[in-house]
Amino acid sequence: MGGIGSGRYPRIGSRARRPVADMQVLRLDVRELHKAGLLWEEARGSVTWQRGGAYKGSIAIRFLPCELAVRLEYEFGPQQVLVRETVKLAFTACHFGGDRPWFRCPLCYRRCAILWGRDRFLCRSCQNVSYPSQNESIGSQAIRRIHEIRAGLQVNSSVPIERISRPRYMRHARFRALVFELLRHEAIRSGWITALGAARSYEYDAGLNTSPGPPLAVDIAA
Ligand SMILES: [Zn+2]
Repeated sequence: MGGIGSGRYPRIGSRARRPVADMQVLRLDVRELHKAGLLWEEARGSVTWQRGGAYKGSIAIRFLPCELAVRLEYEFGPQQVLVRETVKLAFTACHFGGDRPWFRCPLCYRRCAILWGRDRFLCRSCQNVSYPSQNESIGSQAIRRIHEIRAGLQVNSSVPIERISRPRYMRHARFRALVFELLRHEAIRSGWITALGAARSYEYDAGLNTSPGPPLAVDIAA
């Protein structure tokens, strides 16, 4: 299975099982795995995290169709302890058709879209993750701006960016600029990048609003 856009973070590919590099919390989003085709048949692959060009960690992933689960495999810490964990999945009917995948947190079994990885990959409350970004003030700014932009576009936070339509009164150029800015701030909030200055260029799918289309790609220039 190929990658899904070079420069994208996290990168999902087919090779490599390398140790989780440090104690930093890694963010694993089930929707990313779904988009990358990893929740299908006997799919296997890997997810690699990097930030600012620095390697942060990598795990191997295998979909287990019979158990409706994914097997996560990685080495952790200086002792490189091999961790194998099976994480159950749940699927709910999606508003727009198709199924929406969820992880079941291995500890509390609650449904969640994102697992946070240190020694184990757990839900936000079990992992006690307060913030993915190391710089809370930048993250807070991003969140405030996200709310402002979404209010301006008349959509709440549950609407994915690729589903946002242009309000009738708004000019196309203005709409594109707002979506562009929204993408950037959501990337910051996700911890994909930690500083506004690091974000020099972004691209998004030009087919915005027309169809479900390919997964939204956010390319962050090094
Ligand atoms: Zn949990």
